[in-house]
Amino acid sequence: MEFSLTEDQRLFCDSVASLARKELAQGALARAHAPEFPRDVARLLAGHGLFGITIAEVDGGSGGTLTDAVLAIEQISRVCPRSADAIAEGNFGAIRVLAQFGTADQKRRFLAPLLKGDEVIAVAMTEPDAGSATTDLKSAAVPDGSGFRVSGSKVFPNPHADQYLVYVRYGPGLEGIGSVMIRRGVPGFSIGEVSTFMSGANWAPIYFDDVYVPPEDVLLPAGGFRKQISGFNAERIGNAARSLAYGQYCFDAARDYAKTRKQFGRPLCEFQGLQWKFADMKIRLDAARLLLYRAATNADRGLPAPDETTIAKLACNQTGFEVANEALQIMGGLGYTQETLVEYCVRRSRGWMIAGGSIEMMKNRLAEFIFERHFSQRPPRTDRTEKT
Ligand SMILES: Cc1cc2nc3c(=O)[nH]c(=O)nc-3n(C[C@H](O)[C@H](O)[C@H](O)COP(=O)(O)OP(=O)(O)OC[C@H]3O[C@@H](n4cnc5c(N)ncnc54)[C@H](O)[C@@H]3O)c2cc1C
Repeated sequence: MEFSLTEDQRLFCDSVASLARKELAQGALARAHAPEFPRDVARLLAGHGLFGITIAEVDGGSGGTLTDAVLAIEQISRVCPRSADAIAEGNFGAIRVLAQFGTADQKRRFLAPLLKGDEVIAVAMTEPDAGSATTDLKSAAVPDGSGFRVSGSKVFPNPHADQYLVYVRYGPGLEGIGSVMIRRGVPGFSIGEVSTFMSGANWAPIYFDDVYVPPEDVLLPAGGFRKQISGFNAERIGNAARSLAYGQYCFDAARDYAKTRKQFGRPLCEFQGLQWKFADMKIRLDAARLLLYRAATNADRGLPAPDETTIAKLACNQTGFEVANEALQIMGGLGYTQETLVEYCVRRSRGWMIAGGSIEMMKNRLAEFIFERHFSQRPPRTDRTEKT
């Protein structure tokens, strides 16, 4: 068992940190308050080889490990939390699903522009009546010649993306679910009223009205749901890493503040009531980080294990938000203003307790690993009433 970074990992962290200080420190506050994805940062980071870290070189990535991608998120977040979104987008989630399951042609048309930071992808999974119950999704893919016609609607994705990885239903049940790639602006595709999350980022409903999907744009045919979700575990590691990194950012900001801010004639760090808060926060950050590194390290270049991912996401989501919130408290009125990024980190990390599998759904999942059985969340079937 080894609990420290390797020499290569340390050097990698140093180089990402130095890039972040040089290129991203300036403008960090403004970036956090911009509703749109930071495309300029995506191009910059892609140009420095920080996109597709875990994707094979033959597919345009750098063939690194999931842990490298987590370390990149941590280093970027320390300087510019919002820019960590670009690292998440370029390394976790949809981009990984495309790299894992896309055809060579799909990789050329969809993956390549993502890896350069030229295009942005969003996952369109959630529907008005299918949130936590993802498999209730209704967006239908109906055969039309060798392709499909997709109709339905999605909620919550980034409305400014160029391409959407859309979960669709080819037929009934779990086995009827798969996914297709749909480009923004194709006939039948429309975006509803743009709204704003508590984080300040935009979202909007997306509508598909008989959108034609050629056969070459089918990512996963019927029966692909489990593969899709196994890819989604990588997205959960990215989600967990950002939560933790935001908590760390706020911890560092509050620690620096407590060293210099004086009340009652002494620095805040001399008050035992605050020292104990820092001690508790430090333990929680370290513990969550170990769980995150375990999930990422064990996955190496493959997909992370569902149980370790679930535990890491739960620990990092809760720790990230609660530490950020406690750090805000320690910084008093200043922490509550938009003069620092602490309030942004609190608002933003709150969302990851819902997105990518809510805290409650993750705990349901963990209970299944603990008891080694499936617990259906659905009501008992009425057709099972006993005959008398
Ligand atoms: C910041 C953010 C970004 C997002 N980005 C995207 C995106 O890019 N693409 C996309 O498709 N979606 C996205 N989503 C949507 C997200 O995936 C859903 O919000 C999430 O799956 C929960 O669904 P819901 O909002 O419909 O809540 P519901 O499913 O209606 O749940 C409401 C509450 O009930 C709880 N609950 C539900 N079922 C159970 C149960 N069986 N046991 C215990 N508790 C339960 C939930 O945990 C939650 O607290 C995003 C959401 C957020 C907040």
